[in-house]
Amino acid sequence: MIVIRCKECNTEIKSDAQTHSCGCPNMLTVTEDTFSAVDLSKVIIVKNSNKKEDINKLDFFGDFDKTMKLMTMLREEKDSMYPKNIQDLFRYDNETIFSYKVKLNEVTIQWLNEDWHYFFTNQKFIPDTTKSGVTSRNPDNPR
Ligand SMILES: [Zn+2]
Repeated sequence: MIVIRCKECNTEIKSDAQTHSCGCPNMLTVTEDTFSAVDLSKVIIVKNSNKKEDINKLDFFGDFDKTMKLMTMLREEKDSMYPKNIQDLFRYDNETIFSYKVKLNEVTIQWLNEDWHYFFTNQKFIPDTTKSGVTSRNPDNPR
């Protein structure tokens, strides 16, 4: 269960199986354990009772040796489905493991908007307004 407050209209929404929206122009929308808004910098997580369960469900270090062997196979595989220049970019990193485990273990996640996490596509710089990380992605494949 999560409780999210829209800072634009001060409405708090407690999650359940239904979809709820604050109704103001920021359109905070809460469905089960996920939420979205026009401007996520204008929402605040008041309560999240799912954190421990989500971390346990992620099981980041579960079968860790198997995960490392899988990453090695992707790096060294002959006749890979990935072009050589892409395959050469593969490294052992926590972001890859996190993304893999999110899919593998069906963990609910919340995407941050571009104010918080700049998607590094065409430009070769990080804007000063970006508050957190940088992700490279295919601009033709929206999140
Ligand atoms: Zn609102």
